[in-house]
Order: sequence, then structure tokens, then C-alpha cells
Amino acid sequence: MSARIIDGKAFAAKLRARVADEATKLKSVHGVVPGLATVLVGEDPASEIYVRNKGKVAEALGFKSLHYTLPANASEADVLARVSALNADKSVHGILVQMPLPKQVRENAVLDALDPAKDVDALTPTNAGLLVGGRAQLISCTPAGVMMLLKEYVGDITGMDVLVIGRSLLFGKPSAQLFLAANTTVTMAHSKSRDLPGLARRADILVAAIGRPDYVQGSWIKPGAIVIDVGINRVPSGSVGTAGDGRTRIVGDVDFAAAEKVASFITPVPGGVGAMTIVCLMRNTLIAAALQAGVPVPAI
Ligand code: NAP
Repeated sequence: MSARIIDGKAFAAKLRARVADEATKLKSVHGVVPGLATVLVGEDPASEIYVRNKGKVAEALGFKSLHYTLPANASEADVLARVSALNADKSVHGILVQMPLPKQVRENAVLDALDPAKDVDALTPTNAGLLVGGRAQLISCTPAGVMMLLKEYVGDITGMDVLVIGRSLLFGKPSAQLFLAANTTVTMAHSKSRDLPGLARRADILVAAIGRPDYVQGSWIKPGAIVIDVGINRVPSGSVGTAGDGRTRIVGDVDFAAAEKVASFITPVPGGVGAMTIVCLMRNTLIAAALQAGVPVPAI
């Protein structure tokens, strides 16, 4: 048996076209142009690439795109002042403060300062709480992308046993809430969990968001399970564990070659879950813009 590939790249392209259509309508019918502001503190090269890509996609969709870089030694007060100015700017509907932040800036202080209506990463306590209550309008981008992929490729997942490995605020926790809302039975695992392989072997849907290359083995996967690999790990090119030739490549948290022989569906890395995140961020910005303008929220 060879698993069916869940093609996140193809689905993301379709979703992006729908977001573009709805953005055009929002502008022509209601005169609203979605605005996304990104804030980067410091010069981490990976974070620079992420925020640059977000800005490029926002511009390509016809959004207003603003970017602010603060120096690595910016104080917490500097960052809070920037957030406060963006909260007050009516042309900005979504604010993304790129994490991680330098140690002198507390992430919780920044999240507490961020207007929840503009929190397009859905990390503030308000949006996390609304998700638990089943009435969130802004949902964390990567977990939302996973649910869309499952709906598109698998369909009804009611009653399935789900294992989410990883309990981050960004992915694991919101993902578990979404699976619960989808009427599955969810187990959350983390670094202190006992017998991870045993937990994994019971799962109809195995979601790995760990940050360890090829960690989940093929022998952990229940035959016919659906495997969702959220991990993005840069490793030397060549096989994992070898020195390679100085170049790097991206691998997931799951040993793909082994897992695809056992699973029924699997997301590749790259081209699976990761492809969905930026377009889901744009979808959130569009939704935030409609909500702030008091016009109907596009059904996308
Ligand atoms: P994170 O904050 O890096 O935390 C990792 C989680 O994995 C923690 O909950 C940790 O447990 C758990 N963990 C670590 N080692 C483990 C082990 N040996 N066994 C079981 N659990 C273990 O998580 P994250 O931010 O969600 O990122 C996870 C991965 O997903 C990374 O590769 C990241 O790049 C990727 N990611 C991708 C996207 C995207 O596609 N755009 C978005 C988000 C994340 P403890 O809590 O006990 O420490």
C-alpha cells in the first residue's frame, strides 16, 4: 500500500485564488482594502525570510502591506509602542509580531497589548479562549490549514482517534481544540509523554508538530492511518544524520519514506501543511478586515 499524498501546495493555490477574489469584492463592493502589518525585532535570517514572504503574498493579493523592523536591542516599551500605534491605525486590520522575540521583550506582554480583533495569528488569550468556546473567528493559521486539508482530502473524520504530538500555543493546543470541535477523540502528547510509539499506534490521525527531523517512525503508524506532518526541519542534504555536502534541505517530523508505505494519506514536507500557513494568514486578514469594517464575512 502507498499512501495518497495530501497536496498542500495545490490546495493552497486554490485557496489563495479564492482569497484574491474575495479581496477584490471587498474592495469593489465595500471600499475596504485589507491591511497587514508585520513587526520583526532583530535580524534573525529565517524570520526575515518569513516576514518578507508574508509581505510579498499580501501585496500580490492587493492587500495593503506594512513592515516594521526594530533593532535586536529594542526595549519591550519600544515594541509595545509599535503595537499600540498599529492597533490605532484603521488601515491595518491584521498585525503579526514575528516570534521568537529577543529575551528582553516578553511575548506575553506583546500578546496582551495586541488588539484581539487584529490578532491574525490568533495567539492572544482572547482568541485562544474563543476557540475553546467554539466561537473563534480568527483561528491559528497552521491548525486551520490542517483542518482544511483534511476536509478536502479525507472528508468526515467524526469519531476518529487523533494523536497530536506537540503542545505549542501556535500549533498543538489550537489544533487539539479544532479536532475536538470536529468530533474526534483527541490525545495530546509532548516530551514527557510515556510510550509515544504505543500512543501513536492507536491513532487514526497522527499529527506531528515536534521539530525533530524524521522522529516518528513507520513502525509507530497504525496501518491505514492519516499522517499529518507539521514539522519543518532544516538538515544537511543527504540522509538525516550524515554530514552531506554543505547544502541543506527541509524534512518533516515523520520518516516519510517509511510512513507512506503504511498510511492511507500523508502530507509531504515540503509541499504539505507548510504550504497552507501563509495563505491562511491572508484569509484571516481578509476576515479581520470584513469584521472591522462591519461588512459580511466572506465564506472561504
Ligand atoms: P515547539 O514550540 O517547537 O514545541 C515542540 C513541541 O514538541 C513541544 O510541545 C515539545 O514538548 C514536543 N516535543 C519535543 N520533543 C519531543 C519528543 N521527543 N517527544 C514528544 N514530544 C516532543 O512547537 P511548534 O512551534 O508547534 O513547532 C513544531 C514543529 O512544527 C517545528 O518543526 C516547526 O517548525 C513546525 N511548524 C510549522 C508550521 C508551518 O507549517 N508553517 C507552523 C508551526 C510550526 P514539551 O512541551 O514537553 O517541551
